[in-house]
Amino acid sequence: MVRLRTAALPLALAVAVAITAPAATARQAATPVPFPTPATLPAATPRAGEPLAVVATTGILADFVRQVGGERVAVGTILPANADPHDFEPAPEDLVAVEDAAVVVQHGLGLDEWADDLIDNAGTDAAVVVATEGIATLASEDEEFAEGDPHVWFDPTRVRTMVDTIAAGLTAADPDGGASYAARAAAYQADLDALDAAIQRRIATIPEERRKLVTNHDALAYFADRYGLTVVGTVIPSLDTRAEPSAREIDALLGLIEAEGVTAIFAENTTSPDLAARLAEDAGVTIVDDLYTDSLGDEGSGADTYLGLMQTDTGVIVAALGGDAEAA
Ligand SMILES: [Zn+2]
Repeated sequence: MVRLRTAALPLALAVAVAITAPAATARQAATPVPFPTPATLPAATPRAGEPLAVVATTGILADFVRQVGGERVAVGTILPANADPHDFEPAPEDLVAVEDAAVVVQHGLGLDEWADDLIDNAGTDAAVVVATEGIATLASEDEEFAEGDPHVWFDPTRVRTMVDTIAAGLTAADPDGGASYAARAAAYQADLDALDAAIQRRIATIPEERRKLVTNHDALAYFADRYGLTVVGTVIPSLDTRAEPSAREIDALLGLIEAEGVTAIFAENTTSPDLAARLAEDAGVTIVDDLYTDSLGDEGSGADTYLGLMQTDTGVIVAALGGDAEAA
């Protein structure tokens, strides 16, 4: 009885304070409004024997596999955090990981071609799931990317389709888990929908004339397409980070930045920001160097999951372009 009373008292006080202090509540409008908290996904049904061994080429894909598979899967990642998938060479231990996997999840669209050799050399009979299969891509003039721009994860509605493809791939390798994979995939897709809506609300707070992006390499076309931004130009004039701009291309970009009234250049976690920083200085605009593009960030960075990456980038972009990064 005594315990019950002492526990109940602070609660009653808290309620009273909340009711009698509307002014304080109103002032809290300036408090950051977080992105919607992802729903807790349904627990995976246990798998008889060992969890399904899955290797994903990138951390973003590994996150999707974890979301869909839960405890039923053991996921390895080849590409380390902050590493550049365009310019990556697998290590010998990556071959061992692929040899031991029951399922290999590859991105496709020319982003992780290095995995082709790895899969061939491993001589594995693992199922290979190409996560971007069947996705409508944005066209590219780049011969290297004849199937279209590979940076599809910057549109959560396209990620929905990737999640379905991954769930189907896991189910083919582990049919008993089909219902579990389907339930978790559906719950995660609801998180993707909430993310998409929250990004739209935040982008809407950027003054219309400032909804323009100059990025380091051409990674954000899907984000721009989905949320009504314009990619005015890119420092590295390619979908691939290994290209280098000519002096003429740099001059042209500086001209565009001035003509379009661009206010910031966005560098990224996977590539040196030096060139972008020099250009920003020459153009007299802000350099923002903490965008996460082709790779998740370190654990604890806030961008160590796909949802975290998208939330972080949205906050960085909205703040740099004069919007309200804390819009509800
Ligand atoms: Zn890229």
